[in-house]
Amino acid sequence: MRIVLLGPPGAGKGSLAALIKERTGIVHISTGDMLREEMKKSSQIGLQIKALVAKGALVSDEIVTRLVEYKVTHDPQMAKGYLFDGFPRTTQQAQDLDRILAKVGKPLDFALFMETNVEMILSRLMGRWVCRQCGALFHIKNRPPKKPGVCDVCGTELYQRSDDNKGIIRKRIQVYEISTKPIIDYYEAQGKLRRISGDKETVDVHDDLVKMINEESYQNQKSSGS
Ligand code: AMP
Repeated sequence: MRIVLLGPPGAGKGSLAALIKERTGIVHISTGDMLREEMKKSSQIGLQIKALVAKGALVSDEIVTRLVEYKVTHDPQMAKGYLFDGFPRTTQQAQDLDRILAKVGKPLDFALFMETNVEMILSRLMGRWVCRQCGALFHIKNRPPKKPGVCDVCGTELYQRSDDNKGIIRKRIQVYEISTKPIIDYYEAQGKLRRISGDKETVDVHDDLVKMINEESYQNQKSSGS
């Protein structure tokens, strides 16, 4: 499975990617997670990234693409398949990704556009809690941890991302509409866009995805006469 997950912040890309990774072991590449790792370093570049992420703006294509290119060309697990989550976020990044994937001979199967609405986005992100250690995702109502403030998976403290507040979320949605939404046309023109509702629970979205993949491979087999 070689997929790009597209959709606004809060569409459920991270949760779906975590579930697919758990079930299949394929590589989950989240540029948001990669950038948060960079931010932990007090390097000049880490501080620059921190300032942009804090206000809900995009980090430069050059920095993000460099991180992705390194991962794609150095992770031997990529051979099993991959899921991009939060990348690409601009048409330039989508073009760069095609170039990088062509270089390693692992082109995309499709881009999955997870559609959802603003109310859902706000409620998901404002109730989201993340594990400091393993990155597991929780939600105060939809997926509460067994012990408040503690990760069910590794027992580490949970935190709320500083960019998961109402003002910054609205800014991130605006940035998404302007910079990221045009990518939908980019993949549509390649015949690689697939749409799915992101309004459901993660397990149900996962089931819809599996059905879609099975249906497509059935249709492909039928049209190739095998
Ligand atoms: P995420 O964890 O995907 O919600 O990303 C958190 C923040 O990291 C975003 O609001 C951006 O500031 C930055 N970011 C993540 N991925 C990218 C990307 N592909 N291009 C530019 N900035 C990004």
